[in-house]
Amino acid sequence: MSLDSHAFGPHRIRQSEVFAETALSLAFVNLKPVVPGHVLFIPRRVATRVSELTAAELADLWSLANACGPTLERHYGATALTYAVQDGAAAGQTVPHCHIHLLPRKGGDFAQNDQVYDAIDDGERSLSRDLDKERTPRTADEMAAEAAVLRRICALPVATLS
Ligand code: AMP
Repeated sequence: MSLDSHAFGPHRIRQSEVFAETALSLAFVNLKPVVPGHVLFIPRRVATRVSELTAAELADLWSLANACGPTLERHYGATALTYAVQDGAAAGQTVPHCHIHLLPRKGGDFAQNDQVYDAIDDGERSLSRDLDKERTPRTADEMAAEAAVLRRICALPVATLS
């Protein structure tokens, strides 16, 4: 693996897109965020399913997500968070590398609250939001710029997480 990129299943995540990391886990910005601040957390080791993670990886992954969540909520002017895991293809997982979605949430951001799950799944086209239009893949520069801001505000005491 190159030093300046990481595996996300078959994809490569550039170090410039990573905004927080521990010995076992990474946090990075999304190529196609559903809402502003929709980010992902993964174990560094490529493992498809939650059940494949060691207890240490599982604890570290959720600790990292939890350490970043409140900061991201404040930064994006949100009042709540959706944490979601699509664990297996039949559950909507498209990237075979276990990951936690974190989405800063605001009242009324979806016409019906649970539509957020359709949006994450990205298969549902009957929402009030025009997902095809809104979910255009972002450029590497856009992603790096967002990650740079999040890296600064999520500056974590890494040693305490792993
Ligand atoms: P899921 O459908 O639960 O497997 O979610 C996959 C997530 O990965 C979606 O939010 C995608 O937008 C995101 N994604 C896919 N490829 C990349 C990539 N190269 N960099 C960042 N995020 C990605």
